[in-house]
Amino acid sequence: DQGLAKTKENLFKRISRAVAGKTKVDDDVLDDLEESLISADVGVETTLRIIERIQKRAKEEKYLNTSELNNILKSEILSMLAENTAPESKDPVQATKPYVIMVVGVNGVGKTTTIGKLAYMFKNQGKKVLLGAADTFRAAAVDQLTIWAERVDVPIVKQQMGADPASVAFDTLKSAVSNDIDVVIIDTAGRLHNKVNLMNELSKIRRVMQKLLPDAPHEVLLVLDGSTGQNAFMQAKEFTSATDVTAMALTKLDGTAKGGVVLGISDQFKIPVKYIGVGEKMTDLKIFDRTEFVESLFR
Ligand code: GDP
Repeated sequence: DQGLAKTKENLFKRISRAVAGKTKVDDDVLDDLEESLISADVGVETTLRIIERIQKRAKEEKYLNTSELNNILKSEILSMLAENTAPESKDPVQATKPYVIMVVGVNGVGKTTTIGKLAYMFKNQGKKVLLGAADTFRAAAVDQLTIWAERVDVPIVKQQMGADPASVAFDTLKSAVSNDIDVVIIDTAGRLHNKVNLMNELSKIRRVMQKLLPDAPHEVLLVLDGSTGQNAFMQAKEFTSATDVTAMALTKLDGTAKGGVVLGISDQFKIPVKYIGVGEKMTDLKIFDRTEFVESLFR
């Protein structure tokens, strides 16, 4: 279960309504389908691409009827995800040690929670995890992260509020190297300041980390709230233009009927969605599996 019951219900209901009583995929069906996808936050561009593909299939296969529509939709969505997401892997961390994940995203999207869940997941895999509290802008951010560190029982490196984020990141890496840590997860400030500031801050953290580990960070994980629709798209645009984002985590998919955002975001930004958040507990993080995702939408 990928925690997508609401999205499934939304999409599935609408699609079955669209095809009810029809025997052929005609323009009406396509119009309804288009509306369904857009309402699930797949995004206009991606929706149009999907509709185009189905139109093409409908033309090629003269007798395409609506009962086949679901299957075709499923396979088109799957191939679209395959084009735009990384190969599936149950072990998302490479052999590099320490493997450094820099986590970016706006406040409130579930960044801290996602870091806690990741720490829990890696720890469960037998890895030694270290957190770095480089969001020094808000005292609450450090406190929240500390609570998660205690909950999951992993160490955390922090400094006083207002400290230089790059210095915290450097300390964290230094501690990781001397303590034989496998995975380092660095939190960064989540205020949506202007893009130049954001860029400068993130590149400084990068630069300083690279003094110690030239290929760090190995992953820049952008956390987005999957229930915020177009806001998530806008934030993805901001962050991908401010820094080199290598993977995405979409949170709060349990509470939304708009899980189509996973499809739209990966199609538009060509950055793999690596994790999805489907609840508030530490076990509520899934490694994104496109086959399972599509299956769960159409099951
Ligand atoms: P941050 O400001 O980005 O660090 O956000 P937090 O990690 O503090 O999360 C903000 C709120 O969203 C908290 O109440 C979390 O419990 C909640 N949250 C985070 N991830 C999920 C998720 O996947 N599903 C649900 N339902 N809630 C989530």
